[in-house]
Amino acid sequence: MAYVIAEPCIGTKDTACVDACPVDCIHPKKDEAAYETSELLYIDPVECIDCGACVPVCPVSAIFALDDLPEKWAHFAEINAKYFNR
Ligand code: SF4
Repeated sequence: MAYVIAEPCIGTKDTACVDACPVDCIHPKKDEAAYETSELLYIDPVECIDCGACVPVCPVSAIFALDDLPEKWAHFAEINAKYFNR
């Protein structure tokens, strides 16, 4: 299982989650070229250790454990994974 960033991140890209993540698995970061063009931020499903630290710091409640991902946003699991070619 991994955590997933869903639709509320689109147009927000706050990056508080990036700072909270202990394993640096949320990208693109502000200093990465892809940050400007990316619609949202993504969690690497292989690197994520399921700690949940990113969830409470997100100002738009965009991050969910895979098991808690609302059905309407289920496709975001694949969207996150694809960014990392997973
Ligand atoms: Fe990073 Fe933990 Fe969030 Fe996974 S659950 S993205 S390891 S902060």
